[in-house]
Amino acid sequence: MKFSSLDGLRKQYDVVVVGSGLGGLTCANRLASVGHSVLLLEHHHRLGGLATWFRRGGHIFDVSLHGFPYGMVKTCKKYWGKAIRDCIVPLPKIVFDNPQFSLTTTFSKEDFIRLLQEEFGVASEAVHGFFACVDAMNFYDDQSMTTRELFEQFFPGRTDVHRLLMEPISYANGSTLDEPAITYGIVFSNFMNRGVYTFEGGTDKLIAMMAEELQNNGVTICTRAKVEQILLEEGATRGVVVNGTFIAAGAVVSNSGITNTIDQLAGREHFSAAFLAAFDKVEVNNSSCQVYFGIRRGESIPDIGDLLFTSTNRDFSSEEMRAMETGSRTFSVYYPKTRPDQPEDYTIVASMNANYADWSGLDEAAYQQAKEAMVERCLLDLERYLPGIRAKIDTIESATPVTFNRYTLHTRGSSFGTKFEGLEVSRALHRQMPGLFHVGSVGIIMSGWLGAINYGVIVANDVDGYLRSSS
Ligand SMILES: Cc1cc2nc3c(=O)[nH]c(=O)nc-3n(C[C@H](O)[C@H](O)[C@H](O)COP(=O)(O)OP(=O)(O)OC[C@H]3O[C@@H](n4cnc5c(N)ncnc54)[C@H](O)[C@@H]3O)c2cc1C
Repeated sequence: MKFSSLDGLRKQYDVVVVGSGLGGLTCANRLASVGHSVLLLEHHHRLGGLATWFRRGGHIFDVSLHGFPYGMVKTCKKYWGKAIRDCIVPLPKIVFDNPQFSLTTTFSKEDFIRLLQEEFGVASEAVHGFFACVDAMNFYDDQSMTTRELFEQFFPGRTDVHRLLMEPISYANGSTLDEPAITYGIVFSNFMNRGVYTFEGGTDKLIAMMAEELQNNGVTICTRAKVEQILLEEGATRGVVVNGTFIAAGAVVSNSGITNTIDQLAGREHFSAAFLAAFDKVEVNNSSCQVYFGIRRGESIPDIGDLLFTSTNRDFSSEEMRAMETGSRTFSVYYPKTRPDQPEDYTIVASMNANYADWSGLDEAAYQQAKEAMVERCLLDLERYLPGIRAKIDTIESATPVTFNRYTLHTRGSSFGTKFEGLEVSRALHRQMPGLFHVGSVGIIMSGWLGAINYGVIVANDVDGYLRSSS
């Protein structure tokens, strides 16, 4: 697909969207579809942000297509159209394997209720009480209770149950047991409810369909366009500077991380002391490591599940999950059904949570050595499920927090935006600086594919209201 060159841009747009993650893409599309002129600027050579893929050794590797909740069906149908919605299909086989339990689940509420009672022996009242409690949680509730306290209330001392309920959420958004239970409850109700879903055709197909929709709606798209500054003058947003050129806009939506947006793009000097005090408390979420394995064409592998949560660690620990030498990871197995229209291919992606600081301080030699050691740990783990797999692999690639930082510019390579407090700062931005908006992973609730798309819709409504009232 061909996008505009920086030279061919107009001098002024109603809205400039900085960044093409799912939040930025959705926001741009909504605003264009209600008649605003929209310019979308992306620093990378392709759209999608973390919703991305790459080609290596004849394989296509998906980076963040491990699974999303059923809510994507409704959201995509409403905001991206039926063709995209129709590619959303369930991932039927989710497997857990760790020293505390091994099981296979459909990841639905019914199946979790069954497992908790039949496999874990938890009393029916506790199980139903827990689900009633999380189902009733909403964003405006008291935030003082932590997830750890919530679990202890219903499943005291049952670290195995805590692990079953928490591990997938820790992978899905980096949250820990010590964060507000409300963030857990909302994400859990979304996620572990009607199963896990994926996009048939892969991330490349999704982003191509979205790009086509954006162009049909008149969005001007420019890739390899890194915004250097969001220009704020006399208490209002004036536009952006990209490659040294000023482009005027009535509103700017930043899909860059909230920390980048305020510290690097806008500049702290434009915000009040009270706002900055809240902003400085925002904690950036952890990053990720991944190892990608391509299986030689003509070889196949047996069905070991679509998504495998594996750990050799005795108990659940979010600190252990982020450690460099973690024994906890997910394997996403992409069978030929992932891309049914393409030649038969198998790929496997191992994903781990990770700390940016562990990787960013290494010199080149130590960094390469650490990557090789990580690949080997993943291979050893994979061989437990697929004996002899080494001989079938023809392509190996790996990514660390440094890689994620390089491609998305996110502070400390954050995979899941910020912790809970980031949402309030993101929402308050346009009240601090008229015409400046933020969209993208914040506050756990608004992260992940579904969260980012939903937030894109919310912010587009804010921007539309602002532009209409200011004209
Ligand atoms: C390894 C990994 C696995 C994941 N797995 C899943 C999963 O299975 N399911 C799920 O739902 N979610 C998953 N996620 C999370 C999900 O991918 C993200 O939460 C979501 O895609 C983020 O969307 P976003 O709108 O916040 O923008 P991002 O994807 O963060 O994109 C921001 C964009 O802004 C651009 N940008 C930044 N600064 C500038 C600038 N100055 N000028 C121009 N462009 C700029 C960046 O290049 C980037 O393209 C995963 C994330 C990671 C890292």
